[in-house]
Amino acid sequence: MEHCDIAIVGAGMVGAATACLLASQGLSIRVIETQLPEPYAPEQPLDLRVSAISQASVALLERAGAWQHLQQMRLCPYRRLETWELEGFATRFDAAELGLPQLGYIMENRLVQLALLKRMEDFPNIQTHTPAAVQRLRQSADAAVLTLDDGTELQARWVLACDGAESHTRRLAGIGVSRFEYRQHCMLINIDTDFEQEDITWQQFTPSGPRAFLPLPGKHGSLVWYDSPARIRVLSAMSNESLATEVRRHFPARLGGFSVTAKGSFPLVRRHANDYHAGRVVLLGDSAHTINPLAGQGVNLGFKDVACWVELLAKAGNDWHLLAQAERYERRRRPDNLLMQSGMDLFYGVFSNEIGPLRLARNLALNLADKAGPLKEMALRYALGLV
Ligand SMILES: Cc1cc2nc3c(=O)[nH]c(=O)nc-3n(C[C@H](O)[C@H](O)[C@H](O)COP(=O)(O)OP(=O)(O)OC[C@H]3O[C@@H](n4cnc5c(N)ncnc54)[C@H](O)[C@@H]3O)c2cc1C
Repeated sequence: MEHCDIAIVGAGMVGAATACLLASQGLSIRVIETQLPEPYAPEQPLDLRVSAISQASVALLERAGAWQHLQQMRLCPYRRLETWELEGFATRFDAAELGLPQLGYIMENRLVQLALLKRMEDFPNIQTHTPAAVQRLRQSADAAVLTLDDGTELQARWVLACDGAESHTRRLAGIGVSRFEYRQHCMLINIDTDFEQEDITWQQFTPSGPRAFLPLPGKHGSLVWYDSPARIRVLSAMSNESLATEVRRHFPARLGGFSVTAKGSFPLVRRHANDYHAGRVVLLGDSAHTINPLAGQGVNLGFKDVACWVELLAKAGNDWHLLAQAERYERRRRPDNLLMQSGMDLFYGVFSNEIGPLRLARNLALNLADKAGPLKEMALRYALGLV
């Protein structure tokens, strides 16, 4: 039997960040990961899976010691954000309004993960098992024991399930989820743009779903097209050239000249775990909750889980292993995650229809929101994780 303070299952963005931050508190950490990402090379095309990373998440990556590695790879700051349905009824946000250099960054998920994995190498108190997966879990009052598929038996005070939306660890711990499948799927489309790199991200709502643009480094961008599952299936089967023609017909003209370089589609599912912990197993990130990505908040919420858990253990001193920490964690994080999930559902519900009066009301609301002064600033601060 091998022993550690904390076993982390999954070294995605959330698991790897947790490992770095807990290791810097002197705890002994084991990380179990089934599949490491492909290493970075500057000539690689940009990945499809990108995230809008908020200012609060940047601060967490800095604290974890991964930011310097990310800066040596690729990222794209964005300073402005605009959202509208009908032309002339837009809400606009600008970093300058908050006195910030930028609102956040668009980053490739894999590079965020790689930067954290690189940082993990600095800690002698982190040991990784990869490729490896958890086969069995058993618990006593004081510890949990994991059996890995390489035969290792690992005893830990806490097992952190950071193994994503379909978390196997969550299942082994007997935690159920509530699940809702949206009537929209989402297509990610990478493009080469005629314009120089932009510093704005925008989203237009349409009754069949939003259309969004995220800037990527250089003359590149990421388009997000939400639509019915049937429509997304048709678009996915098209050649890049035919898809570009469809994008020109359905995206705002401000997109300008572009060519499609890659595409992929995803179902949209909201999940919320019935409990954030069972005994000594604690859920963080997508294993605890997934959210409609229309405001790009998924991993930002995951990083808030990480910050909360790390702070709780740090403040607990010698009591870091007491079960009360998991209860405190759930009390703090569940309401915040639920609020953001409900906010996204409100947007989804209000904008995904063609009911005339509702359409007028929501456009007036967007227009009013643009002039809402302190309220607008508060909403922006919340979205950036600054409150
Ligand atoms: C279309 C789309 C767009 C999005 N855009 C944004 C955005 O703009 N901003 C944002 O904040 N969020 C966004 N998100 C959400 C974001 O991608 C997720 O919240 C984030 O990837 C979750 O990170 P995670 O580390 O919790 O899980 P994951 O990224 O799923 O990582 C889980 C890790 O666990 C490993 N693993 C899985 N099973 C096992 C096992 N049994 N044993 C060991 N290891 C295992 C996996 O290999 C992986 O490394 C978007 C999501 C989608 C679908």
